[in-house]
Amino acid sequence: MSFSQFPLHESLHDAIAAAGFQTPTPIQLAAIPVALSGRDLLGTAQTGTGKTAAFALPLLHHLLLHPRQTRQTRVLVLTPTRELADQVQASIQQLAGNNTALRSATIYGGVGMAAQERALRNGTEILVACPGRLLDHASRGNVDLRGVECLVLDEADRMLDMGFLPSMRRIIALLPRERQTMLFSATFPPELNRFAAQALRDPERITMGMSAPPETIAHAVYPVPSALKTALLTALLKGITSDSVLIFTRTKHRADRVASHLSRAGYRAGVLHSNRTQVERSRALANFRAGTVPYLVATDIAARGLDISTISHVINFDIPDTADAYIHRIGRTGRALHTGEAFTLVTREDFEIVQTIEKALGERLPTQLLPGFDYQQTTAGHEPMPEESRNGGGYGGGNRRPHAGMAYLASPAYQEALAAVRRG
Ligand code: ADP
Ligand code: MG
Repeated sequence: MSFSQFPLHESLHDAIAAAGFQTPTPIQLAAIPVALSGRDLLGTAQTGTGKTAAFALPLLHHLLLHPRQTRQTRVLVLTPTRELADQVQASIQQLAGNNTALRSATIYGGVGMAAQERALRNGTEILVACPGRLLDHASRGNVDLRGVECLVLDEADRMLDMGFLPSMRRIIALLPRERQTMLFSATFPPELNRFAAQALRDPERITMGMSAPPETIAHAVYPVPSALKTALLTALLKGITSDSVLIFTRTKHRADRVASHLSRAGYRAGVLHSNRTQVERSRALANFRAGTVPYLVATDIAARGLDISTISHVINFDIPDTADAYIHRIGRTGRALHTGEAFTLVTREDFEIVQTIEKALGERLPTQLLPGFDYQQTTAGHEPMPEESRNGGGYGGGNRRPHAGMAYLASPAYQEALAAVRRG
């Protein structure tokens, strides 16, 4: 199997070779012919499987084969986050290779309007945009979408989660009915299916077994009393020789706190979440990508879909709420045939979700204790990190019984893990 089997424009074959792609991934094998045929497409594949090139190559081929005199926008890609927009745009530019006449631009909030207005005025064949800011431009008459021939909805379920569905509908109303639409999503909740039924016409469904994460990832669950989470985190990091570790927390506030804890402990850590300015987000990501800042603490929203091939470890400082979120997070490592490790810190409240994740994965997550770590230590001298309430009620952070986390030590899973560690 090679890319040469696809009847793609010659210059694209050059760019594919320059990108170092030798064989198409399964989703590329399945999706590229469908996309080239002009049919609508509903695609599902696990993260890191090359969905971007699966839609970008056929689009670029179409633009190259059917050039137009005008600089009207002909391809619109919608993404949930700014980081993803940048990343998709970078892939498109890479695959466009020497075809510098194909212009592309990104449109998203958090940065000034002027540069985007200029880019739109000059005209650009390809727009990669987040829904909110695109509608802003549309309402000011800055952008004309009547010439769009192809629409791509990337990470559509995340756009739904982020409340973009009404915006997506409004954007679609600005597009010609006669167009090709490709939608990529990890999950298809009923609302998204209804939306897809309206936005796509007789789509081909391509599903590549989303429920399993890449086999290049090793998982482990680390039980820990919540007050010792930060101490265990730094102890784990001590044992990891890597310059690329991504750490997830449940909330923005916790991301800030974990990052400053790490910095105080001598680990250079950046933070990525949606309360930071765009300049801060871009800088954190650029430094992490470049390896100058080896640790990045992030919330789900900010890290969705990020493709950084060097990430060796994903650490769930807080376990995610759903199995899908788990699969997405750990999909940030083990990408493109690299191996990765995914560590998840779990407190006694997390049992149920661990079981849900195990069910979704169809395998048990091995429980591990960190040898040499003092699980009985008091939190004096550490910065304890109490759990925050997940639903606004129940056991809220400050009101928790001080040693509630310790009850975990009596749990069967913990005892089992402890015994395993003792056995060596
Ligand atoms: P997804 O959108 O499915 O999560 P991406 O499109 O972000 O995945 O691609 C993941 C990584 O794999 C990127 O770094 C990309 O350059 C690389 N990649 C894509 N296709 C191939 C291929 N055929 N061979 C090798 N690497 C590839
Ligand atoms: Mg993607």
